[in-house]
Amino acid sequence: MNKYNELQALISGSNNIVFFGGAGVSTESGIPDFRSVDGLYNQKYSYPPETILSYSFFINNTDYFYDFYKNKMLFLEALPNNAHIKLTELEKIGKLKAVITQNVDGLHQKAGSKNVLELHGSVHRNYCMECGKFYDVNKVKESKGVPHCICGGIIKPDVVLYEEGLDNEIIDKAINYISNADVLIIGGTSLAVYPAAGLIKYYKGNKLILINKSTTPMDRMANLVINDSIGKVFACLNLIISI
Ligand code: ZN
Repeated sequence: MNKYNELQALISGSNNIVFFGGAGVSTESGIPDFRSVDGLYNQKYSYPPETILSYSFFINNTDYFYDFYKNKMLFLEALPNNAHIKLTELEKIGKLKAVITQNVDGLHQKAGSKNVLELHGSVHRNYCMECGKFYDVNKVKESKGVPHCICGGIIKPDVVLYEEGLDNEIIDKAINYISNADVLIIGGTSLAVYPAAGLIKYYKGNKLILINKSTTPMDRMANLVINDSIGKVFACLNLIISI
């Protein structure tokens, strides 16, 4: 049985699948991974992305932060790819229980997924740091320089910056889904970045599927490893299911 058939069999045989996705799921929609060396690096910026996207940098250099953020983090025209679309279908037919993502672009929701746990927040939610008033992403995108609330306060994206902690409620939910999952599919992540590596250890089953272009430190723990593009793999799955 080839790997695609194996994947198909595991998915066909389960009604309790959980998907955990990383930056690779979004890069196939044209959104660069700021952690990859040739990703967001640009001579225009004199700090590494990890510095600019830190809480202290946001507080001390808000102008600079937003210049980078609007140019390199907001890809509002990006469209869901086959991975997002297929996951939405799997949720609709009751097989997929949750999407857990490290991405902040909202593409899973754009594709139609309902139960999405966003570990690192979302660019689509923004709050005034003074009064807490909510603003959508257009307010940030269209503002000149630093976006301000009508009260005068600075608006901050609901994105987990470096130095900031993750939302415990979302982490608890993610752990709950992972620890109760029958099939766990991990896609588009090298599993090197917190919290991905830590969350996987909560999985108790024997149907761990890893789909990533390159090998990962967890490959030997997995029951099925496919080193390929996640969009391509899910596109094939789509064909197999529709036959
Ligand atoms: Zn305000």
